[in-house]
Amino acid sequence: MKSVSLVGSTGSIGRQAIDVIRSSPEGRYQVVAIGAHRSVDALAAQAQELRPAYVALGEASLAGCLAERVPPGTEVLAGPQALEAIAGEADVVVNGVVGFAGLPVTLAALRAGRRLALANKESLIAAGPVVQAVRSTPGAEILPVDSEHSALHQCLRSGRAAEVARLILTGSGGPFRGRSRGELAGVAVEEALAHPTWSMGPKITIDSSTLMNKGLEVIEAHELFGIPYERIDVVIQPQSVVHSMVEFVDGSTVAQLSRPDMRLPIGYALAWPERLERPFGTIDWTRLPQLDFELPDRACFACLDLAYQAGLAGEGAPACLNAANEVAVAAFLDGRIPWLSIAEVAAEVLEGHEPARLTSVEDVLAVDAAARRRAGVAVDRRSRAA
Ligand code: MG
Repeated sequence: MKSVSLVGSTGSIGRQAIDVIRSSPEGRYQVVAIGAHRSVDALAAQAQELRPAYVALGEASLAGCLAERVPPGTEVLAGPQALEAIAGEADVVVNGVVGFAGLPVTLAALRAGRRLALANKESLIAAGPVVQAVRSTPGAEILPVDSEHSALHQCLRSGRAAEVARLILTGSGGPFRGRSRGELAGVAVEEALAHPTWSMGPKITIDSSTLMNKGLEVIEAHELFGIPYERIDVVIQPQSVVHSMVEFVDGSTVAQLSRPDMRLPIGYALAWPERLERPFGTIDWTRLPQLDFELPDRACFACLDLAYQAGLAGEGAPACLNAANEVAVAAFLDGRIPWLSIAEVAAEVLEGHEPARLTSVEDVLAVDAAARRRAGVAVDRRSRAA
């Protein structure tokens, strides 16, 4: 029996993790803690079904309202530290928190020597040097819950580290693949939210439309697997069936294929080094999928190269880019700036970034806050001009 703590349990990743656990043989996994920022109704319903020892709520003012709706024997933790408090409580901690707010959960899980099933890529991207420092805690390990990185993790089992020539991250290209810059000028929020192959939360769906998600995934791959940026490539695979590939020094390329279903990478992270017994995303070869490959349009989708630029600069630069992007995406979702301005705001803020060493969470927070401030100014200027 593996105990599981689900942080961000009411979001897309959390709900799919529960689905995987529900479909696993009785007694294989036990959810001992769940947590979310403020979704009291959903948390109460999950607590009734899963009967965890702990339910954590980030927003302290809603604690009373939650406490009367959880089953007897379930303890409610509330406040800013509640989510990280449940990150040390299980064999596997699923971090499905959205955005930079997931960093304390990542650090708490690794410091406690737990397996971190990491869906919150922002924590690794923004705080790479800080996360790397706690990754060597005995027992601590990161299993990626990102389809591409799960694919890379699987492909890397085919050879030794010294035999890896390149990582090839694949991406669907998002809803705007093939469009010219002119055609991208006036795209609506609803269009950007209509992802062709994956069903995900709004923030990551917008990131997929700009290819910022792919760019951040390049940084994530570098941090997870220690491969230099010159040996990480991006190829567009519009059907989202090939989830990433590893090329080895002898010229052989190993790919991982499945239908797009996040429950497969979630289950892989829970079960590793074993595999889930129930399949998710199996390909039906009687209905042969077409597999296309093309190179990304780096001029239209400028966010991809911004991410390489930030990754190569290292230290605080990825945190700066990530923060600027979060602000810009929120402004786009609010209708304050056009889609093309997401990359402009991110580029402007990254351009003005003052190099800073990252040795502590405070360092990361300082870079993050400064970048958010400057991104806010850049957004205001554009929304006034519009
Ligand atoms: Mg992904």
